[in-house]
Amino acid sequence: MPKIWGKSKNPSVCWWPSQKLCAHRFTPGSGWQTPTAGDCQIGVGFFKPHFCNSCYIDGVTDFARYIATRLDPWFRQNHRDLAWRRTRDPYAIWVSEIMLQQTRVDTVKDYYPRFLKRFPDVGTLAAADQASVLEAWSGLGYYRRARLLHRGAKYVADECGGKVPDRVEALRKVPGIGPYTAGAVASIAFDRPAALVDGNVARVLSRLQGVQDPKHQDAKAAGHWQAAQAILEAAKSPRIVAQALMELGATVCTPANPTCLMCPVRPRCVARARGLTSEIPAPKKRAPSPRDDLWAVAIYSGKNLLVHKRPDKGLLAGMWCLPLIPREGNRGRGGKGVSLAAVRRQTGLRVRAAKELETMVKHVFTHRVWELHPCRVEVVGRPELAANYAWIDPGTLPAGGVPKVTKKLLAALDWGSRPAKSA
Ligand code: SF4
Repeated sequence: MPKIWGKSKNPSVCWWPSQKLCAHRFTPGSGWQTPTAGDCQIGVGFFKPHFCNSCYIDGVTDFARYIATRLDPWFRQNHRDLAWRRTRDPYAIWVSEIMLQQTRVDTVKDYYPRFLKRFPDVGTLAAADQASVLEAWSGLGYYRRARLLHRGAKYVADECGGKVPDRVEALRKVPGIGPYTAGAVASIAFDRPAALVDGNVARVLSRLQGVQDPKHQDAKAAGHWQAAQAILEAAKSPRIVAQALMELGATVCTPANPTCLMCPVRPRCVARARGLTSEIPAPKKRAPSPRDDLWAVAIYSGKNLLVHKRPDKGLLAGMWCLPLIPREGNRGRGGKGVSLAAVRRQTGLRVRAAKELETMVKHVFTHRVWELHPCRVEVVGRPELAANYAWIDPGTLPAGGVPKVTKKLLAALDWGSRPAKSA
């Protein structure tokens, strides 16, 4: 039997309910805690002495077996029918897991089939150029994921004979595959008991085990990875139970107002038994996101508009946008519009007649907010452009597609009212 959390530092007799309903009372980092009447779901008078290590390991195994046994049939009957659940193709599952990071299922539903139609296997993706991968990703956001997926596909094509590895250790060597994605691909595609903990799974495990210390509640908590591993090892089909853990967090054990009455594992849930579902996990105090106040400079040459390919690092790396200039210290005469000198410094182009639009475009990233003030200027002459700039024709978009924020800016400039086609 695997040792789950190692030996107790204090191997003295602990108090444990004979029914082992309180196996969760050991919290990694906090050690053993003496159960009180409130800790035991069956009430006072059922405690009897046990030795910590054996009773705890038995308890975890029992807990894991229980969760796995209940989740399996529940998932088979209640899961949402999603395209990536109809396949065992590890490449397709890998794509779906990368798309689902930080992105809602409803959004991924549209992109996933289109992406797979364009890049149906790892070889096709590996052979594609980055611009076409970014184009297929255009609008999904977090473009670093697309670049890493592309790099990962090249690695699999070159180093793994074009076959997605089936074990966590080998999957972790693929660029862009972290512990969660490795666990997801190994368990869902290859039916291996490979732990996976994302925010949804962490919330389920925190509540089930009554973990109240915020340090041990998130998806990085070692205790959760060990618990998930134990649950998948106890499962008849790790593929089903891995997805069930995620599905439970996404549809039943939701952040606010979990529907505990519909939950297949509620008899073993400590948070529910103690009325702590709104306190576990602890609400996060998020610091306000920093704001960038920027000019979004629309430089026209006749009917053509200038677009700028952003640097290879940082926000929207390698994506097309309008030239952006901080507003602070870069205002034009009388404090109006963008400073023409600042535009020249940034783009190398001489421009005239700045006209600030009345609208403001706000774009919220995960940890940053852009407040963009579009401003029209006219270029003087028809100068040579640096490699990271391009003119686009009316109604067209640059090759490789544009991110959402650029679409918002183009809409503010009325560019989108013309039929869009790639330049
Ligand atoms: S009983 Fe409620 S809180 Fe506990 S795991 Fe189920 S849904 Fe979550």
